[in-house]
Amino acid sequence: MVTSIHRPTKAIIDLSAITQNIENILQQLSQEMNLFAVVKADGYGHGAVAVANAALKAGANGFCVATIDEGIELREAGITQPILVLGVVETSYIHLLSEYDLAFPVTTLAWLKDAAMILQLEQLPRPLKVHLKVDTGMGRIGFLASENVNEAVRLIESIPQIEWEGIFTHFATADQAEKSYYETQKNRFMAILEQLPYQPLYVHDSNSATALWHEPIGNLVRYGVALYGLNPSGQAVAAPYKLKAALELVSAVVQVKQLPKGYGIGYGETYITPKPEWIGTVPIGYADGWLRKLQGFHILVDGNFCEIVGRVCMDQIMIRLPHEVPVGTKVTLIGKNGGHEITLQQVAEKLETIHYEVACGISPRVPREYIE
Ligand SMILES: *Cc1c(COP(=O)(O)O)cnc(C)c1O
Repeated sequence: MVTSIHRPTKAIIDLSAITQNIENILQQLSQEMNLFAVVKADGYGHGAVAVANAALKAGANGFCVATIDEGIELREAGITQPILVLGVVETSYIHLLSEYDLAFPVTTLAWLKDAAMILQLEQLPRPLKVHLKVDTGMGRIGFLASENVNEAVRLIESIPQIEWEGIFTHFATADQAEKSYYETQKNRFMAILEQLPYQPLYVHDSNSATALWHEPIGNLVRYGVALYGLNPSGQAVAAPYKLKAALELVSAVVQVKQLPKGYGIGYGETYITPKPEWIGTVPIGYADGWLRKLQGFHILVDGNFCEIVGRVCMDQIMIRLPHEVPVGTKVTLIGKNGGHEITLQQVAEKLETIHYEVACGISPRVPREYIE
């Protein structure tokens, strides 16, 4: 999908909000703690490379991404710091992982045995950096806490081109006020750490929620959503300090008209003007990630909340204006305008989802513009 720069719709990313959010968490963490900025999914829709560079300025030590390709994107943009791929990688990509110096999780013995065979025949540019992933209760990827993780350590030691760089786990409920399941997972992880023959360079268990509300174990946190200024819990648990939202979504009214009473608006004629009304058209739609379920939600024009009337189209929406406004008037879909604000969280609530999904869903058609 081509990025459409010749229209007023754009996401504006405030990089100073990102540096501020990182500086704040670093103040809360102990001195020896490393922070890897999680910039998967194009930096949660904010732009991975720009976010990564801002994070470095604020003191991040490395990065987490979801896929090999996301790691390569950072390397090709000149990032030299450690990068950890969080997802499972296939053994067929071993050479690529070495070439781009991407660390990655090992989640089964079978993977290591397969890699050992391949590496008998293949000389890599540099050793592979692996983090053992332990599934302490997420049910997603990793060795079960009941499995013998030390066997994986021994196997790694027998493979000359693999370096054991880390061990980690991931919590399912660190963003909830109720702590019992978090404690169960944490105890399983601690039990595994205790029986390791020795500890690798990085030991880590913290996403944003763990770093904000719990005591991180180890010496690294994987800081994601909160660096974008979003509360990991939505609104369930208050953040210990103010997180500063980095993303604004703006556009402009491209046509303004007064429609008579009884006039149908949009596909399916789902809205009919109950009286003469000023209607504005804004060039954003579900192909931009502004989904059809947002019919009936509102956006901001000159500090006024204006309802989205009629169905959201692929590329346009119609809004009810309080009065005539000039064509070209700025509108705010996410962010502040005239003393009012619409947050990603509010959009997420209207969509019955979480802000993570809304931020990631702003499509590549929408240009990202950066301000300091
Ligand atoms: C996405 C992810 C993170 C970051 O989570 P946030 O809630 O955004 O902080 C950390 N660790 C793993 C394994 C992840 O997949």
